[in-house]
Amino acid sequence: MRFQPRGLRQLALLALSAVFVTTAFAQVHPTAPSFSSRPGAAYTIYLNYAGFNFSGTWGGTTSPSGTPGITPAYTVDGDATAFSVAEVANIKNMWARTAEKFRAFNVNVTTIDPAVAAGQAGSDATRQAYYDSTAKLMHTVLGGSGGWSGGGGVSFIGVTENAYGTAGQNGGAGPGFHTNWGFSALAPNDLQFIGEVAAHENGHGLWLRHQSDFTGNTLSNTYSSGNGTGNNSYAPIMGNSYDSQRGTWRVGDTGSTNNKSTQNDVSVLLQANDGMLLVDDGVGHSLATATAMGVIGGNVDPTTTKGYIMPASSANPNPIGEANYTKDYFSFSASGAPVSLTLRDGSQYITPGAADPGATLKSRLRIFDSVGSLVGIGVLDGSTLFSTYNASLGAGTYFAEISSFGGLSHTGNFGTQLYYDMGSYFLTGSGVGAVPEPATMAALGLGVLALHRRRKSSK
Ligand SMILES: [Zn+2]
Repeated sequence: MRFQPRGLRQLALLALSAVFVTTAFAQVHPTAPSFSSRPGAAYTIYLNYAGFNFSGTWGGTTSPSGTPGITPAYTVDGDATAFSVAEVANIKNMWARTAEKFRAFNVNVTTIDPAVAAGQAGSDATRQAYYDSTAKLMHTVLGGSGGWSGGGGVSFIGVTENAYGTAGQNGGAGPGFHTNWGFSALAPNDLQFIGEVAAHENGHGLWLRHQSDFTGNTLSNTYSSGNGTGNNSYAPIMGNSYDSQRGTWRVGDTGSTNNKSTQNDVSVLLQANDGMLLVDDGVGHSLATATAMGVIGGNVDPTTTKGYIMPASSANPNPIGEANYTKDYFSFSASGAPVSLTLRDGSQYITPGAADPGATLKSRLRIFDSVGSLVGIGVLDGSTLFSTYNASLGAGTYFAEISSFGGLSHTGNFGTQLYYDMGSYFLTGSGVGAVPEPATMAALGLGVLALHRRRKSSK
């Protein structure tokens, strides 16, 4: 808005030179680095850091609405025509934070424009029409300061799952409804803010409303900021999670004064969106089905000894209680020498073996022996972001169990709210060996079974 007077003067001076005006205002889209959290998933959230020229009025005849026009690419150095090395690193960080929120869901959080593969990327107007016509796709523009809208970002509610339809479908949102926004230029170096706001706006697209604070039946804060800041703090993604240690899905209060209801974020995500589901991480969920720990030269290989913890029930997800989440098991061997294991919360997209910022899981580590007896428990660090286990285990086979800490039930000035502990983890450590023996026995068992079947079928 600051530049409007000068812009008007320029337009007046150049009124006879339409071509020149068009050239002067053409937008360069820098090439974003390519990251995808779950290629091929039913839902796609395309995080666009490269700028966008939006056609028309966003929001149709409803409120909020506005005319976004050209949104510049994400930038920290003022040059929106190219991504610097620092900006590429920031993009990976912000993308990883947003992707982690959807880690267990059938959602691909990606920086790769799906309009390119579809052959619909000739212009931004073509891209916009493609996004609108594609079900289960959201285009999230992360750029600009949102002067046309206000706030940190904006999205329509419950629009992601369906393609655009005229005649009242999509609540009158109008064309462009498959584009939502996070206004990164408000604080381009606050990577947590930008990562959280992208998850928040896409939560709206997937039918979530705000997680709010109520005093009795009176709305006190539309955006709940959870239980504080620092270690072991939680805030709802659908509230204000810009300053908490963990921004998580929650069961809590939503609505308006005298119209309060409870929203279970995970239930809504799973049940309100056609084809949305939790995807198993493929790690064994019992001692009997334990996955062999990845071991390289006596050290744990974190790039294969990893997974994610999610609610055990899709029909009735419950954030409170370890038993309401999946558990993962890894088998390993010990030789009698010291064993050291560290269980870290978070993904490791940025640096393998190092936890990305933005962990949503708070995890627990237990060690069992070959007959399933508990032999040790990991010690939770004061940061609450990792647990360590150090011991000299007798020679033999052991199991590492990874579980959710069991969620946080927090009671404060605004009643009781329940936070999920779900998301990615990985193990590091030393003094461990691989366990070929049980795997060999399992293979033998299967071989015998197959022989029996063949004999039976030959009769
Ligand atoms: Zn919101």
